[in-house]
Amino acid sequence: MKHTNVVRVLPDKQQKQILEIIGDRCAALYNAVQYRCRQAFFRGEPVPSYAALCSEFEEHPAYKALPSDIGQEVIKKARKAWDSYFACLRLYRKGDIPRPPRVPGYWKDRRTGKRLVRLIPVKSPRSYSLDARTVSLTLPTDLREKRGDRLVLRTKGLLRFHGRPKTLELKYDPVRKRWYAHQVVEVPEPVRKVRPEKHAAIDLGARVLVALAIEGLGRQLLFSAREVIKDFLYWTNQIAKEQSRLNRAGRKTSRKLRRLYQLRARRLRHAFVALAAEVARILKRHRVTTLFLEDLTGIREDTDFGPKNVLVHNFWAFRMLRNLIEAACARAGIKVVPMEPRGTSSRCAVCGHPVRRPVRHKAVCEKCGRVWHADANAALNILLQGSSKEHGAEATPQKPLAYRWDRHRWVSRFKPAAGTLKAASGSRTAA
Ligand SMILES: [Zn+2]
Repeated sequence: MKHTNVVRVLPDKQQKQILEIIGDRCAALYNAVQYRCRQAFFRGEPVPSYAALCSEFEEHPAYKALPSDIGQEVIKKARKAWDSYFACLRLYRKGDIPRPPRVPGYWKDRRTGKRLVRLIPVKSPRSYSLDARTVSLTLPTDLREKRGDRLVLRTKGLLRFHGRPKTLELKYDPVRKRWYAHQVVEVPEPVRKVRPEKHAAIDLGARVLVALAIEGLGRQLLFSAREVIKDFLYWTNQIAKEQSRLNRAGRKTSRKLRRLYQLRARRLRHAFVALAAEVARILKRHRVTTLFLEDLTGIREDTDFGPKNVLVHNFWAFRMLRNLIEAACARAGIKVVPMEPRGTSSRCAVCGHPVRRPVRHKAVCEKCGRVWHADANAALNILLQGSSKEHGAEATPQKPLAYRWDRHRWVSRFKPAAGTLKAASGSRTAA
């Protein structure tokens, strides 16, 4: 299993200049490779392979200006852009994505045409080292002189994962004007303990982000999208304000605008990461071994995308949430099985009879008269479908347990904050 450590890099003034020089050389090589590939592509020839590009660029001045472990990685990066381009093209032809992908471009500012410093990739830990305090990498020969062979930079942050180090990327964030180091480490798969099989299922949605049903648990857990969407809308508003300000000034973009976009995306991601972690924690507590996770096709068919359809243009958000849940479960040693939902929200989970939907969030069974929360019913149906059980399970719907995002963590109504819980139990013992 691969994980990525991310730490901030704190170069001093002089080191910043060196990083910019190396970054610019990476962009020069990247663009040269991209030019070669694009020419081949537009002439209708096959795009050269990574190996062919390596031997072709061996004597190229842009390649020779970099240590080979960086140069090769830049070529690989450029070639990989074509791999993803062709993969997306195949998906587009199959009708899986709505728009055709764009042909890989250059690392340059489209307005000014100037080369952009984006990142410095380093192939293997042979030519870099990263520990809790510093990152160091081999310098190009012409930059060595007084400073020695290596560039040693201070870092700030925690190395969360330990394992076999793989590639390193020094990335420049132009919005924050900061450098970050992303290190990939290979961590051995967690050993799954042999435990009795226990299943759980998740239904994803726009109003209830996650509806979780656990085998043998009478009540389902619902994670409300309300606060998350409210926050998202607030920042969307801020973006609109900045955009109209720019319009009046006759400008298209600003650093502030890019910053707002970044903030909005990060705040959404924060909520989703915390949600995925909470789900994994709950599953672990209930000793769940397999999770049935709804495939995203269901959401696309559902016409409801939450208040003001805020997430309709942000389908990527659901993909991100799904991926995060999958990753959190993988870390916890829980198997994830994707499920193609088939009419999971139209039948009663107890008797299998079609349900009526008087309002969006309610499902009323016409046969047994049960009143469901629609998403809880859907999650339970996915659970039944996944464990290939018949309807008429133990389930009698209890009121589902609702969780909401308080911008720090996901809290349920019945679980008071840690402090009050202690106070309450304290007073009980006193009494
Ligand atoms: Zn029923």
